[in-house]
Amino acid sequence: MSATGFRLVLLGPPGAGKGTQAALLAKHFAVPHVSTGEILRHEIGRGSDLGGRARQYIDKGELVPDQIMLGVIRERLSQGDCAPGVLLDGFPRSIPQAAGLEEIFAAEHVPMRAVSLDVPADEIVRRLSGRRTCRACGAMFHVTLSPPAKAGVCDRCGGELYQRDDDREDIIQARLDVYHKETEPLMAFYRERRVLRSVDGTGSSREVFRRVVEELEGAPA
Ligand code: ADP
Ligand code: ZN
Repeated sequence: MSATGFRLVLLGPPGAGKGTQAALLAKHFAVPHVSTGEILRHEIGRGSDLGGRARQYIDKGELVPDQIMLGVIRERLSQGDCAPGVLLDGFPRSIPQAAGLEEIFAAEHVPMRAVSLDVPADEIVRRLSGRRTCRACGAMFHVTLSPPAKAGVCDRCGGELYQRDDDREDIIQARLDVYHKETEPLMAFYRERRVLRSVDGTGSSREVFRRVVEELEGAPA
């Protein structure tokens, strides 16, 4: 598949492995990996206005308001590197966001597809509570499921690994509640539009990656 016209949205609960799969898929299909969570954490890190506003919501496990997020995504998608295609990770997360994205894409006459990563609820909590993130490059590890070679150090870049504030158990539950209420309705939204594929998100990241690629390459839009 060429990158031209490649528009993919990755769906699934927090902890489903969207970030990991998005990185692998973006490389495979040679399109930018746009993670709204990463964009927001970057803004928090550099102390911008946007970061300051976003932080109030992120720390509670809530969604950053749709109007703010639509502004963020509009700005990001307008950059030249997204012209041939893009892989969205963590956006959209609500029906208004999906409707806004549909408008943005409609103007470009390029079809989009959505892939959902399905992972059982108990597995999600186990994955999130042991998750560690690299401060420098955003790579993700798990203290028991996929530990780095050296504890606390990123295999990829040597950066420091930390536990995101919103990966603490009390906040995880809030994020899952938000997911069920705000984000899960997107499954029906995209199913109605006949662009949704569901993929089993359990097993190793390599296995999941292979399943997603098969789903995408085996079934042109
Ligand atoms: P995860 O997928 O593991 O929940 P993300 O890095 O995608 O983590 O997002 C972390 C937090 O950033 C979310 O809990 C939310 O507060 C905020 N966020 C990210 N993307 C969006 C979005 N599209 N809309 C609203 N809030 C968002
Ligand atoms: Zn790193």
